[in-house]
Amino acid sequence: MTPDVRCPPPSGAPTPGPTTPGAPGGLSATEVLVAARALEAAGRRVVHLEVGEPDVPTPPHVVEAGVRALREGRTRYGPPAGIPELRAAVAESLRVRGVPADPTRVLVAPGAKAMIFTTLLAAVRPGDEVLVPDPGYGAYAAVAEFAGGRAVRYPLDPARDFRLDPEAVAARVTPRTRVLVLNAPHNPTGGVLAPAALEALGEIARRHDLLVVADEIYARHVYPDAPRAPDAAPVHPSIAALPGMAERTVVVDGVSKAYAMTGWRLGYGHVPARLVAPATALLTHNASCTATFVQHAGVAALTGPQDAVAAQTAELRRRRDWLVAALNAVEGVRCALPPGAFYAFPDVTRALAGTGHTAETLARRLLHEHGVACVPGSAFGPAGAGHLRLAYTAATDDLAFAVDGVRACVGALRAGAGR
Ligand code: PLP
Repeated sequence: MTPDVRCPPPSGAPTPGPTTPGAPGGLSATEVLVAARALEAAGRRVVHLEVGEPDVPTPPHVVEAGVRALREGRTRYGPPAGIPELRAAVAESLRVRGVPADPTRVLVAPGAKAMIFTTLLAAVRPGDEVLVPDPGYGAYAAVAEFAGGRAVRYPLDPARDFRLDPEAVAARVTPRTRVLVLNAPHNPTGGVLAPAALEALGEIARRHDLLVVADEIYARHVYPDAPRAPDAAPVHPSIAALPGMAERTVVVDGVSKAYAMTGWRLGYGHVPARLVAPATALLTHNASCTATFVQHAGVAALTGPQDAVAAQTAELRRRRDWLVAALNAVEGVRCALPPGAFYAFPDVTRALAGTGHTAETLARRLLHEHGVACVPGSAFGPAGAGHLRLAYTAATDDLAFAVDGVRACVGALRAGAGR
């Protein structure tokens, strides 16, 4: 976390916030978090809906496995690609989702984000075009451009609840397109991919010989109303399970979200055979390896009891239903019911119409005047403008405090504009 980022107070004209690469015009989650912590240090109450982080503890058996590994002296360097036990457990967790996974193609990294970084750096050459979702997680575009590529945003349509339209992807493929980044369930909208959309995207990837980077970090956060095949497990389907797709797909996943392990820093990927050597070389020269005892905790997370995951998802679904209904009761706010992940992405355009204010000003005022930390949708790309992202990984009391803040803030802005 960079301590020197600033969130200016909402006085006068809206000031463009400091941006992260890939977060055009937006105020990133990290920047909001830093500003929120500063307010708390000054004695203010702030509810945190800005960072995508479960509010439950890591399951005790996973903590125990990590502590045991430390006591047993698993404190030395390990293989750069990961310990064999974890690579096998990851491969098995993919096989039960229908992905023909091979442990030798599983690579372990300090977080899913590090896996995204590693694979894009290994795969993208200068001048390559990388298709990224808009709105979308900022790391995709930032790393594609860091590697010398060009991030080409494919829009998720606000008018269709940000559903991914495979034709919008196909329309942006050029002879220079090398990589298609998918993220489902999706951050920031909570959208998922229906089986037909996955098929269509697989077809596009095969037709244009694209590498797919499928960020599936929220795969276990799907709610029973998400569209999926009737016999499917309560986990989002992987595009890598489609015929011929595992050979051209990097499946990115990790323990941060499903197992409430954000601070442990453990992610992994299943990569096409041709990427094993270059990606391993990058891991070697960057991290040397992922903390060994953490990997042992990861084995316990993947192979041990899964009831904590189910309990977390059930609780999140309850909060989601409450929050979305409460947001829709605020005048001018419209919020679709997100079928996956743990973000609500309300549209505040109508609520702010005629006030001269944007979702960014609203987010700033929510934080500084109402103690509600959330992220403006523009932090995730131009198509996110006019929206807010609220992570509902907070207690219902905090969610109620946040909705009261939204109602009061929107009301004040409208009253100020004589509406
Ligand atoms: N991918 C997406 C879409 C995310 O939202 C996040 C975290 O917010 C990550 C990857 C990073 O996960 P990790 O904590 O494992 O690095």
